[in-house]
Amino acid sequence: MSPSKPMLAVAVQISPWAAITALILFAWADSLFGSRVAIAATALLIASLVVHEIGHIVAASISKVRVSVIGVSAAGTYIRRQRAASPWAESVISLAGPMVSLALAALFGLGNGHLYGWLAKMNLIVAMSNLIPIAGTDGDRALNAICIASGAKLRRA
Ligand SMILES: [Zn+2]
Repeated sequence: MSPSKPMLAVAVQISPWAAITALILFAWADSLFGSRVAIAATALLIASLVVHEIGHIVAASISKVRVSVIGVSAAGTYIRRQRAASPWAESVISLAGPMVSLALAALFGLGNGHLYGWLAKMNLIVAMSNLIPIAGTDGDRALNAICIASGAKLRRA
């Protein structure tokens, strides 16, 4: 691996426990759509989560912030990255994922039928739940960065 291309050195981590979550998602989708559509529903939902992370990665690489890992755990997808040098870049990188999820929700919302409606709702839930500013979420990181930029301090419980 060339040290002159650090942005491309992203390791992929997939936890075996993610298979359990995928099976639970499949079982849920199966109860909603039947087995054949459930495979597509599960694959599209997991792909949506990966695209959310790619949103963070693209924003990070624009800001020259190194991303070391993209991963899938039982709890969902994640990236590991450096903190951005500026609070502005930090909040943009943090908000990029939820913005991508909102865009996916809008895109799926244009489709006709139960499956697209479900995928639109799921992406909306992903965006909204990531924006809730509790420890570790995208919204928390963005809010912290905005507070740092504005000179305020967040007290941690
Ligand atoms: Zn995110």
